[in-house]
Amino acid sequence: MYDVIVVGARCAGSPLAMLLARQGHRVLVVDRASFPSDAVSTHYIHQAGLLRLQDWGLLDEVIAAKTPALRKMHYSYRGIDLNGFAEPVSGIDAVYCPRRTVLDEILVNAARRAGAEVIEGFTVSDLVFSEGRVTGIRGREGDGTEQEFRASVVVGADGFHSTVAKKVSAELYNVRPAAGFIYYSYYSGLDWGLHHKTGFNEQWFGTWPTNDDVSMLAVICTRRQLKEFRQDVETRFQAVFDDVSPEMGAQLRDQGRREEDFKPMRSPDNYYRRSYGPGWALVGDAGYHKDPYTGWGITDAFLHGELLADRLHQGLTGERPMDEALADYNKARDEESAGVYDFTTTLGELTELPPFFEATMSAMSTTQEWTDKMLGLIGGVVEDHEIYSPDALERLYNDADVPEDKRIYDPTA
Ligand SMILES: Cc1cc2nc3c(=O)[nH]c(=O)nc-3n(C[C@H](O)[C@H](O)[C@H](O)COP(=O)(O)OP(=O)(O)OC[C@H]3O[C@@H](n4cnc5c(N)ncnc54)[C@H](O)[C@@H]3O)c2cc1C
Repeated sequence: MYDVIVVGARCAGSPLAMLLARQGHRVLVVDRASFPSDAVSTHYIHQAGLLRLQDWGLLDEVIAAKTPALRKMHYSYRGIDLNGFAEPVSGIDAVYCPRRTVLDEILVNAARRAGAEVIEGFTVSDLVFSEGRVTGIRGREGDGTEQEFRASVVVGADGFHSTVAKKVSAELYNVRPAAGFIYYSYYSGLDWGLHHKTGFNEQWFGTWPTNDDVSMLAVICTRRQLKEFRQDVETRFQAVFDDVSPEMGAQLRDQGRREEDFKPMRSPDNYYRRSYGPGWALVGDAGYHKDPYTGWGITDAFLHGELLADRLHQGLTGERPMDEALADYNKARDEESAGVYDFTTTLGELTELPPFFEATMSAMSTTQEWTDKMLGLIGGVVEDHEIYSPDALERLYNDADVPEDKRIYDPTA
């Protein structure tokens, strides 16, 4: 009998298992994958996520894997440019984009080192119920015979097609339709650094140096462009760079060499799922998913893995009733993620910015101090009120010499 069984051992599941095991709880984590292995995902980690890795003692492992340190960000949204870097917090003066083959293995090994039992290649097919509570999992390792494991709580960290969510019929809420699709691959021959650029024709590209001396290049377009894109991916991929930044488009054509096949993903709709119930909880994409445009999925998986570990610990030690602790986890997760969810689903449309965002981002782009503050907000290390409180907005508009009639204070405008 385990205290907690975690289904899924990547960004959400392994940190959760590690944190619980470090507190002395008996934890089993299973994944149908074995590690190292890839996941369909680009790999950008915001400063807020890196802070978690640093606190857990794992950031040095990411750096030791020769993951390039990125100390300048080039953001651009329909002609508004933000070039700089957020003020370092707790010594984090760079961001990183480790391949998932690197990151996920570090995470699963950390869970194992902490004392969690890990079974790779194990597929969960069903949950065990007893008197209305989830009390375990059922599944098999490879082609082996079916096995059952029991626990006080089963956590689904099994991604957006979550089997755990399906088996407990976790309802969806705050669903917003997906705006786009993404294609990405890895290129040599380009020395670009970190770019995140949205053009005027509902097209975006991102570039990030990653492990093995290659850069990951990704494009996102809105769904209405999907049919045409699929017909000739190589040409359409290049055309997005040409359209958004002709200069970088020329460099890609002349110097870039694609090293791997393209990976496509049509984004599922953005959603929250009810993430707790009797004997079960959900974390990571299983419970909450949004467009990859802002690259917040990994960081959120870390933050919410830690939040859930804390509430599970309270329940397991009897500090408060488990059901109350899990309800509180769900509430806190929703409150903490609301800003990122709104920002992601709004900007992920790749269309005109709402007037408030247009006014404030344009103003911020005029000074380095405000640019870096905005990059800190995007990275999760500057709080909303540092930019959007009435006093801060007044200072921003004054610093940028914005005429009175162009100043917008209402975030819903
Ligand atoms: C194209 C794309 C680009 C992205 N880019 C970024 C980015 O740059 N930065 C960022 O922060 N986020 C990004 N994201 C989001 C990020 O990938 C996810 O938010 C993150 O991987 C969620 O982690 P997770 O652990 O919840 O789920 P996952 O990483 O999906 O892991 C789920 C695990 O559960 C296992 N599993 C599933 N079902 C079962 C089962 N029945 N039995 C056993 N095991 C099971 C799977 O094998 C898998 O290992 C991107 C996503 C996509 C799709």
